[in-house]
Amino acid sequence: MFDIIVIGGGVAGMTAALYALRNNKSVLLIEGTSIGGQIAQSPRVENYPSIKKIAGSELTDNMFEQISNLGAEFEFDNIEHIEKVDNVFKLTGEFANYESRAVIIANGVKHRKLRLPNEDDLIGHGVYYCALCDGPFYKGKDVTLIGDGNTALQYALMLSDMCSKVNLVIMFDHFFGDESLVKAVESRENIEITREAKTVALLGETELTGIRFERKDGTTFEILDTPLFVAIGQVPDNKKFENLAKLDKFGYFDSDESTTTITPGLFVAGDTRKKDVRQVTTAICDGAIAATGACNYLNTL
Ligand SMILES: Cc1cc2nc3c(=O)[nH]c(=O)nc-3n(C[C@H](O)[C@H](O)[C@H](O)COP(=O)(O)OP(=O)(O)OC[C@H]3O[C@@H](n4cnc5c(N)ncnc54)[C@H](O)[C@@H]3O)c2cc1C
Repeated sequence: MFDIIVIGGGVAGMTAALYALRNNKSVLLIEGTSIGGQIAQSPRVENYPSIKKIAGSELTDNMFEQISNLGAEFEFDNIEHIEKVDNVFKLTGEFANYESRAVIIANGVKHRKLRLPNEDDLIGHGVYYCALCDGPFYKGKDVTLIGDGNTALQYALMLSDMCSKVNLVIMFDHFFGDESLVKAVESRENIEITREAKTVALLGETELTGIRFERKDGTTFEILDTPLFVAIGQVPDNKKFENLAKLDKFGYFDSDESTTTITPGLFVAGDTRKKDVRQVTTAICDGAIAATGACNYLNTL
């Protein structure tokens, strides 16, 4: 039995662990994929106050070391369900069950999919969502990327550094990212931008062989024999926790800066909750508030 279980090893979860450990609480941090979360995918973070430039993975490695030194315990598991029985939270994971007196959900967001019929079958077989993880497999080759926001722009730059050509296809006639990133992408010679084209089909049954796009006038074109990187945003994955915490219409936890939920002792932190700005700084802020709230709650039991 732990004082606090933190679900998610991103920056929100690790900050929550840091604050709880410094409050002398026992902490188990459960991570489903890999410690670090989304920011570990970013090769360059330049908006973390006081650090001019740092790789996302270095930032999260430092956080991991910091909480490990303070005595955090870790499990690799995917939490699928939580119940609260007599002031004890019972967590069901894919591999084991866990118990604690307070819980902080800091499970972030997942990659949004295109929702095309055979997309799931082609994941890892030509269709990817993380350029940092899978881009290096295509060093020196042509690749295709879909997306028009900051993540897509960062991915475009990253891929253009290692691939011979990046076909960047966007739905509208403009990007929705930072101007500096847009300029950087537009000035790269090996990035070819195609505007106002919608992805309508993924070709291939067991391996991606091509991508079909539709222009505004209804005509189609295909890009053949390249992998596809999809960077069209993120979505929350919170339905499984709806028994204990309200969700908004988009599926984010309906909580304010207090990070509290309708269940005493259950807190939600980071990108997973309703908010205007999803960034490292705001996730970290939530982690600190959630842990402080959880510690105060434990002191009242
Ligand atoms: C490519 C990219 C570049 C970015 N660049 C910047 C930047 O330069 N500056 C900036 O401020 N922000 C940037 N962001 C945004 C920033 O990364 C996020 O806002 C922040 O990392 C959110 O942290 P989090 O801890 O809330 O969630 P996440 O980082 O999403 O972490 C959540 C963790 O929970 C785990 N998890 C999920 N469900 C479960 C479960 N059921 N059981 C166990 N574990 C689970 C996930 O595997 C994940 O590791 C970037 C994002 C991306 C994708």
